[in-house]
Amino acid sequence: MARVRSKDTKPEKCVRTFLHGAGLRYRLHRRIADTRPDLIFPSRKIAVFIHGCMWHQHPDPTCKLARIPKSRPEFWRPKLQGNRERDERQLVSLETVGWTVLTVWECQTRDREILALLADRIRAIRPHPLGGAWRSARNN
Ligand SMILES: [Zn+2]
Repeated sequence: MARVRSKDTKPEKCVRTFLHGAGLRYRLHRRIADTRPDLIFPSRKIAVFIHGCMWHQHPDPTCKLARIPKSRPEFWRPKLQGNRERDERQLVSLETVGWTVLTVWECQTRDREILALLADRIRAIRPHPLGGAWRSARNN
């Protein structure tokens, strides 16, 4: 699978630092149902994606980071469209095997209120009493 960005981007680190500080423990870049979310919470079956606004085309019209580069639009448009379609397929794959998918956009990662809401969403899903689910999910 072609991944354009590196694994340890600054937005990812912001989210990880915040969630860790909020007492939440996660695993990084595990393979689930042919996807590789940025963070997973195995016992809660939650996958978190931290999306770059340009690469993944943040649909918020107020987002200034989502602008397509002015040069070579004929190159960028199909490429970014492909990224969006892949994101959609990953969402469906994960939901099909019972995972909850949460997406944080790059432009949101410095907003502590949004990160606090993310932590609340994660805590609202109770961990399974028998522990992690990522091994069994891989076989689905
Ligand atoms: Zn954005």
